[in-house]
Amino acid sequence: MIISLRRMTYDDLKKNLKKEDKVVVWACNNCIKFRDGLGGRESMNKLADKLEQDGYDIVRRELIGASCLLDLVRKRRTDEAAAKAFEESTVILPLTCEDGYDNVKHVFSDKKVLNLTKTIGLGVFSTKKGMCVNYPFEGTGLEPSVDGITLTEAAKKMGLHSGPY
Ligand code: SF4
Repeated sequence: MIISLRRMTYDDLKKNLKKEDKVVVWACNNCIKFRDGLGGRESMNKLADKLEQDGYDIVRRELIGASCLLDLVRKRRTDEAAAKAFEESTVILPLTCEDGYDNVKHVFSDKKVLNLTKTIGLGVFSTKKGMCVNYPFEGTGLEPSVDGITLTEAAKKMGLHSGPY
């Protein structure tokens, strides 16, 4: 499974938004939701609710099966139910891995798309340790480990953040 961590804190995310922005929270409903809740419906709603409580205008909550499928991302933009909200939106917040982010940035090149996650490698869920990274990507500075490195540990080593926004 692809493992991603948060690049920033919730407060840092807000520094990238203006009060007049029209915000779409976009979440992948696949690998990223199986770690400690960075993607998926629950995480999407949690972030959108927090931003609404802080006075931001959330114009769309978009849950997608796999944001790494470019055609699927393209179809979402033109979907009748969503097109109007996407048209008026100014900012998109993708809760996806970096592949998913790249597709959103490509399809919504006229919008500000925030890069909220860093994809660090491949991992599996351990019943003892929770979601772990076992095969970190080159450049992460993490060592491969059959037992796995917990996401809290990986985040600490890389100056990133575990857990949802
Ligand atoms: S976009 Fe990333 S997190 Fe979502 S299904 Fe594809 S690889 Fe997994």
